[in-house]
Amino acid sequence: MNTAVQLWDGQLSIISTPIPHVSAPNEVLVKVAFSGICGTDLHILAGEFPSAKCVILGHEFAGVVSEIGSDVKAVSVGDRVVINPNTNCGRCSFCQKGQPHFCKTGGIRSTVGIWRNGGWSQYCRVSAETVHAVPPQITLRQAALVEPYSCIAHGFDLLMPLATSSNVLICGSGIIGLLWACLLHFHGYRKVTISEVSERRRNLASGLDTGYQVVHPEVLVNNAKEAKVSGDDSWGFDAVVDCSGTPAAIEQAIKWLRYGGKMLVFGCCPKESSIKIDPLEVCVKELKIIGSLINPFTFPKAIQLVKDMAEKYLNYDKLGIAVFDLPNYQSALDALSRAEIPKLCLRCE
Ligand SMILES: [Zn+2]
Ligand SMILES: [Zn+2]
Repeated sequence: MNTAVQLWDGQLSIISTPIPHVSAPNEVLVKVAFSGICGTDLHILAGEFPSAKCVILGHEFAGVVSEIGSDVKAVSVGDRVVINPNTNCGRCSFCQKGQPHFCKTGGIRSTVGIWRNGGWSQYCRVSAETVHAVPPQITLRQAALVEPYSCIAHGFDLLMPLATSSNVLICGSGIIGLLWACLLHFHGYRKVTISEVSERRRNLASGLDTGYQVVHPEVLVNNAKEAKVSGDDSWGFDAVVDCSGTPAAIEQAIKWLRYGGKMLVFGCCPKESSIKIDPLEVCVKELKIIGSLINPFTFPKAIQLVKDMAEKYLNYDKLGIAVFDLPNYQSALDALSRAEIPKLCLRCE
């Protein structure tokens, strides 16, 4: 039988159904090994993020191919794989312009684990185009980080060009802030500051061995004041990556941008929230405010990144990622919503 955690009308429950089989030539059946739980899942459960009414959640997962349809050529039974949950129609105006993440029917409107059954399950049937082979250097645990890294890789591309000598601020050191810190260090950035209100999260950021400065945002507020008083206009950041999803943090950090500075809005803020920006500052300092949405074309790159970063950076204990067995999903979700741990992974094997 196949055990899974199903969302039905806002409530989660464990279901047990016969193991699915491929039913079309382009389908792949994956025996799921590890499946991440992220902030988006919590938003879905709180009714703040749209999803199918009845669906097995889980959009960050890796496992082993157990069955393939007759047309599937890219993977074979027994291959270790990771799933890109986002597909697109290939026909709408956005797809035609090379912007599949804005697709009218695909992108975030068709995500596996949100609109189609996903990886909080022992078995998951997906279409072949979503399946990517995992190189032997990556464990299946680490492979569950490919999806988050595919989104970060898109944000990183949008932030470029940015000299490695730049002063960079990461707002928020939840798991996404930590993964950003690892990526910036991997790419040679050394002047990075991480601001975070939670002491527990600051400790995790300090434990990454990047040598980055980790501070409470109040420290930066005071530094900014002192710089203003002393007329030091060199203080500030060339780039800010917001991973806090907090409008007030973004509003504040925009004021800390240097001439030519960039603000990458990466974390999701509450719907219809607002911030105040001084447009004269934007003009005079040539500031850029950049948004970043999911992972267009970055999945293969993220697999390569996770492979190259795995040994030095992607240790679950250092990143504070806890692993729970699938049937214990409720304790896992409780711990995540109490912010006791930054990230969770379900073991589905
Ligand atoms: Zn996610
Ligand atoms: Zn489309």
